Parts: sequence; C-alpha cells; structure tokens
Amino acid sequence: MAITASTIRVGKRYRHPRLDQDYDAIVIGSGIGGLASAACLSKMGKKVCVLEQHYTAGGFTHSYERNGYEWDVGVHYIGDVGHTKTTARRLFDYITNDKLKWSAMDKAFDRIFIGKETFNLNSGKVDYRQGLIDAFPEEEAAIDEYLKRMHSVKGAMQTHTLQKILPSWINRIIDLLIKHKRPVWFQQTTREVLEDITDNQMLIALMTSQWGDCGMPPAESSFVIHSLIAQHYMHGGFYPIGGAAEIARTIIPIIQASGGEVFTYASVEKIITDKKTAVGVLMADGNTIKAPIIISNAGVFNTFTKLLDNTLPQVNDYQKNLTQVTPSMGSICLYIGIQDSAENLGLPKTNFWIYPNEHYEQVCDQFQKDIVYNDNITLPMVYISFPSAKDPDFSRRYPGRATIEIVAPCRHEWFAQWQNQPWGNRGEDYEALKQALSRRLLKELYDKLPQLRGKIDYYELSTTLSTDFFCRYPQGEIYGIDHDPQRFKQTWLKPKTTIKGLYLTGQDVVTCGVVGAMMAGLITSVKIGKLQGLKLAKAIFLPSTST
Ligand SMILES: Cc1cc2nc3c(=O)[nH]c(=O)nc-3n(C[C@H](O)[C@H](O)[C@H](O)COP(=O)(O)OP(=O)(O)OC[C@H]3O[C@@H](n4cnc5c(N)ncnc54)[C@H](O)[C@@H]3O)c2cc1C
Repeated sequence: MAITASTIRVGKRYRHPRLDQDYDAIVIGSGIGGLASAACLSKMGKKVCVLEQHYTAGGFTHSYERNGYEWDVGVHYIGDVGHTKTTARRLFDYITNDKLKWSAMDKAFDRIFIGKETFNLNSGKVDYRQGLIDAFPEEEAAIDEYLKRMHSVKGAMQTHTLQKILPSWINRIIDLLIKHKRPVWFQQTTREVLEDITDNQMLIALMTSQWGDCGMPPAESSFVIHSLIAQHYMHGGFYPIGGAAEIARTIIPIIQASGGEVFTYASVEKIITDKKTAVGVLMADGNTIKAPIIISNAGVFNTFTKLLDNTLPQVNDYQKNLTQVTPSMGSICLYIGIQDSAENLGLPKTNFWIYPNEHYEQVCDQFQKDIVYNDNITLPMVYISFPSAKDPDFSRRYPGRATIEIVAPCRHEWFAQWQNQPWGNRGEDYEALKQALSRRLLKELYDKLPQLRGKIDYYELSTTLSTDFFCRYPQGEIYGIDHDPQRFKQTWLKPKTTIKGLYLTGQDVVTCGVVGAMMAGLITSVKIGKLQGLKLAKAIFLPSTST
C-alpha cells in the first residue's frame, strides 16, 4: 500500500555555511521550551538560531516515521487547550499564529485499572468531581477538600513562577509578605497531603493515578506537581491535529519570519565564554557561532556538567546545586503498527493506566531493587496510548493503519552496559532483552484489548539509551530533574543564570510537560525581552487589558 504521508522531519539541516553571522540569540535544543522562547523572541524582532542535535526538531514533541507508520514520542495528551481563554492555549496560538489545531479526546480521557477495579477520569470540573464521588460516595467531603487544596496550590505556583524572573530584592519582599499565606502543602509530598484528607487507599490511588505524568509515586512527588498535572487535565485531554510534529512545524515559520532558523544535526559541544560572559557556542564540527544571548534548552545536568567549562567559578556553584536535585524516571516505550484503522479496531481516544494494585510505593520499592531485568519483576505502571485514534488527520496520512504506544517505567541499569554501543547495532543480547520487554508489554495490551491479538504488523521498543541518543538525557530521564518537594525549593532553577548572557529554558525551569516546558520558554523570553517582554507577558496573561 502506498503511504501518502509527507515526511514528518522538520527543521533545516545544519551546515556551517548555511548560517548567518548576526544572530541576536542562540538556542541550544529545539524542545518546546527552546522553540517557544525562540518564537517569542522572534516576535520581539530578534533573529534567533536554534541548534538541535537530532535529525528533526521538537525534542520530545518530535514524531518519527518507520515502516509506514508514524509515532509521537512525548506528546500523548495535553490539557488546558480546549478553550482559547486559557494561558496555555493563548501561548500556543501566539507562537504558531493560530496554526496549531487541537482535537478533544473522549469524555473519559484517562481510564484507570487498579488491580481488578476500573475507573474513568472525566473531563470538566463538575464531571471530574462527580466521577470521584460516584466511585467513593462516602468520601465526598474528602474529595472536595482535595480539590480545594489543589486549587490553592495553583495560585501559589503562579507567584512561584513569577518569582523566577523578578529581581532578588523584590523576591525578598514577596517572600516576607506571603510567607504565612503559602499553603503548607506547597512543601509536602502528595501522599502526605492526601493521607491528611482520607485514609481510603483506593481513593488515594485513583487521585494519584496519573503519577506517570511526572514519574514519581505519591510518597515521593511534590503535591505541587501532582496538583498542576491533575488540574491541567481536568478539562480534558487534547491532541495536536496532524500529530505531534505539527507543534514544531507550526512554530518554525515564526522564528524564520525574523530571519532566524531551526537547524537539525546541529550538535553543540560547548558554550564559549569570555571574561565570565557567554558569547557563543562551539559546534561538534569545530565551527563557532557567536551571539550576545545563549539559551540552553538542554537541561541543567547537560548545561552545567557538559556544556560549560569547569574553570568558571559559577559553574562550580551550579554543580553544587545539582547535588540537590536528581534525574527523573527512565522509560521504555513500545511503538506498535497495525494494518487496520483505529475505528475498525475499536481503539479509544482514552489513555489506559494499568496498576497491579493500589499500593504504588510498595511496588515501586520492589522494582527499585532489581537492577537486572527478569520477567518476574512487577512493572509499577503500564500506560497505553492510541495516537491514531486521537488524531482526526491520521487516516488521511495513513489510510487503513493504526498505531498504539505502550510506556512503562524502567531502570537505566537494565541497559547501561550497552550505552557506548552504536545506535541500531547494540548486539544480540540487547535485542533479546528488548524482545522480552516487548512481549511483556504486549501481554498487557492483549489483556485489555484481546481483539488485537494476531493483528500486529510491526513493533519496536525504545529504551533509556534511545532517549539519550535522540534527546540527550544520559540516564534516559524523560522529565528532566525529579519533581519532589526539594526541587520546588531550588531558587537557582530560573531563566537568568549567574553567567552573563546565559539563560535556561525547558522542563527543568518551571515543570515537566509540554505546557510546563513551554511556559519556561515564555518566561525566559520575558526575562530577556525586558520592556518588550513585559508587554508579551501582559498579552499572554492579561489579554483583555493588553493592546
Ligand atoms: C515518553 C514520554 C511521554 C510524555 N508524555 C507527555 C504527555 O502526554 N503530555 C505532556 O504534556 N508531556 C509529556 N511528556 C513530557 C514532555 O514531552 C516534556 O516535558 C517536554 O516536551 C520537554 O520539553 P523541553 O523544552 O524541556 O525540551 P526537550 O524535549 O527535552 O528537548 C531538549 C532538546 O535539546 C536537544 N539537545 C540537548 N543537548 C544538545 C546539544 N548539546 N546540542 C544540540 N541539541 C541538544 C535534545 O536533542 C532535545 O531535542 C512526555 C515525555 C516522554 C519522554
């Protein structure tokens, strides 16, 4: 069958002669944080050069094509974009000139399987609450208290984010003013807050059933990230029409409109400094590119342990700061192709979250003990997503085909011995391990959707080594640094670094998630743009009062 899809690779292949020499800013990495900051700066009239080491732009928002199928990598669903009034939607519309379109998932956007129990999370504040109450009628008061606490965290988070771009003297005043107003649960783990509300373990398990969205079970995650994620999806899940690659595809023209470009195959080796100021980058091919502003979207570990020269005193300080944070969860993902349509196969626009039981931490603790994989290890969580069902444009691009993705946490140690082997050629043992893991994940799929048995045409598994190879996370950490309470105390996680001219953006600055990383892109450009930045912030956050 002829596949009519056009190539989904985006960005322009880097060759040094293709570059201009008068960029206002260089962005290292084309994740959504990097692209959003580049687009916002471009709209301020700046000429921005984005440098991406992968063969396509987008970071975790990229899509890839193989054997006549297309899969997304880190975009299964996005919340808060169903209404043009939300900040997330306004920012997406701003950086794409309204070109990116969204398709709503089913009313039940997440289906939760905990042991033998099944629950739905329904979109809309009222239906979301009612769904919890219908499942646990005796817990109505606890559920309302839970929703109230989450709401208060959302407000506190706005101030927390604003503080990342304010001068430290203003922050000191704010801290004094709000010290007693910030809810205590801002510093607590999710489990601490929920155990204070109810002792119903199945209800807690349901409330925290999206823990895979930040990669930490409730006893470890901050209640801040829990609340942000739960509220982010409360109004439903959405998927970009045309697939995840549409995100970068619709942002890039905005960057080009100001003379900028997004280059792929463009690996940055070092950030060049002169008199303690960042002045450019050294490329892997030995060429240099100069600009007065350098923005790193490569994550804090890469930025401060690989890209900067250790002799800079500030780098030493940052390396000490890095001891306060930890890399997040690694994952495996099975990418599946079927020669039939999502409609014929009955695939839902609903994500499946599958848990062996409600005691998430016990399973995770056991999981942490096994540094060598064996089939007896209980997977703490398995997540199944049906992208071809979510994308109304998929059947036009790939008629008579469907795709499924299955994600599960894994230990980087399972794969570490092959880290230095070349991609695509890591040997038979590695392939055998991947086969064992694939069979394991397929079993979960057939358990939930037995009609798919015998229908699968193609599958392949990614590991932490794939995440490192394609997105440069050395331990395959899919959410950057962990989202425990400690993370939210790190005042150095902000756009402006102590190295003049160097800025940070992406999921390590505000939070993980496409919208979290995109918000970092916004605040990084607001910080750089000064007066223009303030106007931009006003346009995004207070549209009715902006000109
Ligand atoms: C399996 C998975 C599922 C997910 N599901 C969802 C979801 O459903 N919804 C959601 O909202 N979020 C999801 N996420 C999280 C979300 O995708 C990320 O939080 C977000 O995209 C991170 O964006 P970022 O700006 O930090 O950059 P990243 O996407 O991390 O990109 C950083 C880029 O920098 C590049 N880079 C690094 N070093 C260099 C260098 N030296 N030179 C050049 N380039 C370099 C990398 O190649 C990479 O492309 C998921 C993530 C994963 C992995």
